[in-house]
Amino acid sequence: QANEKESMYLVSEFAQKYFHNTLLTTDEGRAIGYSYFKERGFSGDTINKFGLGYSPEQWDAFTKEALGKGYKLEYLEKTGLTISGENRQTDRFRGRVMFPIQSMSGRVLGFGGRILGNDKKAAKYLNSPESDIYHKSKVLYGIYHAKQAIAKKDNCYLVEGYTDVIQLHQAGIENVVASSGTALTPDQIRLINRLTKNITVLFDGDAAGLRAAIRGIDLILEEGMNVKVCTFPEGEDPDSFAKKSSYDALVAYLEGEAKDFIQFKASLLMDEAKNDPVKKAGLIRDMVTSISKIPDRIQREIYIQECARIMDISEQVLASTLAQLVQKDI
Ligand code: ATP
Ligand code: MN
Ligand code: MN
Ligand code: MN
Repeated sequence: QANEKESMYLVSEFAQKYFHNTLLTTDEGRAIGYSYFKERGFSGDTINKFGLGYSPEQWDAFTKEALGKGYKLEYLEKTGLTISGENRQTDRFRGRVMFPIQSMSGRVLGFGGRILGNDKKAAKYLNSPESDIYHKSKVLYGIYHAKQAIAKKDNCYLVEGYTDVIQLHQAGIENVVASSGTALTPDQIRLINRLTKNITVLFDGDAAGLRAAIRGIDLILEEGMNVKVCTFPEGEDPDSFAKKSSYDALVAYLEGEAKDFIQFKASLLMDEAKNDPVKKAGLIRDMVTSISKIPDRIQREIYIQECARIMDISEQVLASTLAQLVQKDI
């Protein structure tokens, strides 16, 4: 079992080098992949740092190369890099730019591959499947490159995508990781919790991003961590925003816009409820539910006070609603 996992790590490492070299040294890789990254504003240093790559369009280019180098088909299949059909093997990733996903200690666990351009019909990102070495729910993209900065800054920015992590790094903000499309999980939060108690959620300025940010908040609170939220203008994500901002403007935006979760959620809910008392009652319960997730009792009380002020409602009502919700813990 241990040997088997080691073999899977070795195959993944080989694949990372193969895709990276293909990007840098082949005509196809340079013309298609490298120029794509350049267009997105990634420098050569950034491409090297994150080990970005390109998978050729030919259906079995990688598999052939790997088998030729003596890597066993068994491990190519188990990592999902090769898909075996009736009588031929094909590469999972073809004609995509490649983002290697690394563990906390830097080992390559799997890949995300992006199609070039914006074809609305094809899935934009294809990821490695779950395997003995790649558990999506336990991995955060960028953690290897971010861990030192997270500890040093005592804060972690959480974004949605690979390119958000990379663009922020290049802009000089290194304490950033991504959940990469999957809904945030407790295991991912615990990974951050080992390094800092503070998370700032930076999700895309669209409806999906907002929903993801709100969902993530309660989970983070349950782990006893402090959450701030910073939203982006409609249609922007951290990548697009960072790309067109100077470092100073970016830092000023992140610091100026980051709101404590209670301010964020309460004002969001108040906007939604406006003058509808029935809606407002439901949203207050929603708010108190978030507060009930906080393990520390004193912190809960402080939030109740603040929530009462923001939502213009008596503390007693909030406190009794909270008491019902946390009864199970008493
Ligand atoms: P880009 O800037 O390259 O268009 P993005 O990171 O802004 O990509 P989003 O659409 O905001 O992409 O999605 C956020 C993340 O969700 C992606 O980085 C990726 O990890 C994941 N994701 C998006 N679309 C898919 C998909 N079709 N299949 C699997 N994962 C996806
Ligand atoms: Mn999005
Ligand atoms: Mn995005
Ligand atoms: Mn984007």
